[in-house]
This record gives sequence, C-alpha cells and structure tokens, in this order.
Amino acid sequence: MNGVLVCSDLDRTLIYSAAALGLRGRDADLPRLLCVELYRAAPLSYVTETAARDLQALAGTAALVPVTTRTPEQYARVHLLDKPPAYAICANGGHILVDGVDDPDWAAAVRTRVADGRAPLAEIRAHLAAATGEFVLKRRVASDLFAYLVVDRAALPPGWFDDLAGWCAARGWRTSLQGRKIYCLPEPLTKSAAAAEVARRVGADAMLAAGDSLLDAELLAAADAAIRPAHGELHDTGWTAPHAAVTAAQGIAAGEEIAAWLLARATADAPPIRPSAPWRTL
Ligand SMILES: [Mg+2]
Repeated sequence: MNGVLVCSDLDRTLIYSAAALGLRGRDADLPRLLCVELYRAAPLSYVTETAARDLQALAGTAALVPVTTRTPEQYARVHLLDKPPAYAICANGGHILVDGVDDPDWAAAVRTRVADGRAPLAEIRAHLAAATGEFVLKRRVASDLFAYLVVDRAALPPGWFDDLAGWCAARGWRTSLQGRKIYCLPEPLTKSAAAAEVARRVGADAMLAAGDSLLDAELLAAADAAIRPAHGELHDTGWTAPHAAVTAAQGIAAGEEIAAWLLARATADAPPIRPSAPWRTL
C-alpha cells in the first residue's frame, strides 16, 4: 500500500440501483454493467465494468475503504471488489469493520459519544411514528443509532422535510433526504471521525474522499482531495470546496468518473496533500 487512504461512499457515488442509473431514455448508450449487490435474490446495485476494473486497480495500490450509512448487514450484500476491503465504515461511522468483523471498542465509544447532550433515539422514533400519511412507506432503526423513513418522494407534502429538519436540529440531530430515504442521525455520528480513525490505524499519509449526500459533506471537507457527482444532495445544494472536484457526468457514468479520478489521484507520483486537511486532527 502506498500511504493513500481512499474513503468513498457507496450508494449513488460508486454503486447505483436501476432507479439511480440516470440513463433513462438512453438505453442504447448503456455501458456494460456489473451487478455488485443482490437483494432477496434479485439484482439491486451496479457499477460499470470500467469502474469495476478501476476500483480493483485502486484497491491493489491504496487502502480503499467503503464509507456508508448502510448498516453492516446491508453493507454485507455489496461485493465491490474481488475480495472484501480490509476496512469498511458502516452506519455513518457507527461501525468500523476490520476484515468484515465489527470492532466492538469503536462501536461502544461512538454510542457513548453520540448519547451525550442530545435527544435520545426513542424521542426521534416517537416523532417519526407520529408521521402518518401515505408518503410513509416504512420506518426503520439502524444499528440502534439512528432512524430513517422510506418514503414515496412524489407524495411527500411540501415543507414536510424542512419542518422535520428544523425539529431535529433543535434536538442535536440532523437529517438527510436521499432517494426514497429520509435519515435522522445524531449530529456527532459522522463518517469523517471513523475515517480519521482508520487513517490512524493504517498510517495514512493522504486521504481521498468521494460522496454525494449531505452526510458525506464532512468526509469530503476532511480529506486532502475529494470528488462528488453532479447529482444528489450535495449537487442540489451547490456544495463546493477548493479541494473538491465535481464530475461532468451524472448517474452511473459519474460513478465511473469517480473511480477513474480516485485511481489517478491515488497512483499519482505525488498524491494530493493538504497540510490543513481536518482528518489529521479529528
Ligand atoms: Mg450516497
């Protein structure tokens, strides 16, 4: 390994469901895809074959760490590489998996930290349970740390999400709207804190990051160099940073562009170093 740590979100950054491909009406342009996730024996998530090759090459040179809001169980369905990466971050930083096994000390430390001085998960659950309406399809709790709703986006009442975001913010929680999911997470539960911990453990010299949602913003901000796709929450809110690139493409083609960008930066003679990058002091 060359001292470069590559921390990348999965869904809508590297891997894409059929609904997120972004190729509607352009079927003839579809590149060949590789299915990287099955759910109940049906194909669910894809990368382009080119992206799959680049990610494999990336994992052969740098430490590639999937950093996802998925629970460990949801992450276990994703087969991004020939062999699972040595480290993975799940539950938005709530779990660090080492060779596929949860690190119990990290999980316990995170739970202590997020419980400090904010509304308990039970209060958030009760609030979400009171949200009735045909737009609510499912209510879920993840890793006993945070809650999310699966919603019908088209039926979401105007202003409902903003009201929820305000209610959560007053209680030390934050929200994220991604595809069909609305997440409510305690503010200190961050991908960047777990990424900094993995960086320490592998002795990284540089960190690259990629992500598409508001839950990825700190991770991108913490890295030496970062990239986000031209779609998703960060795109919709116009998020930018001097050290962060934006893809030209959208959808799964952006995923391919991100894999190529990460590979090029991770294998450059001099990887991008930003001495003030926050991951060094997190
Ligand atoms: Mg994502």
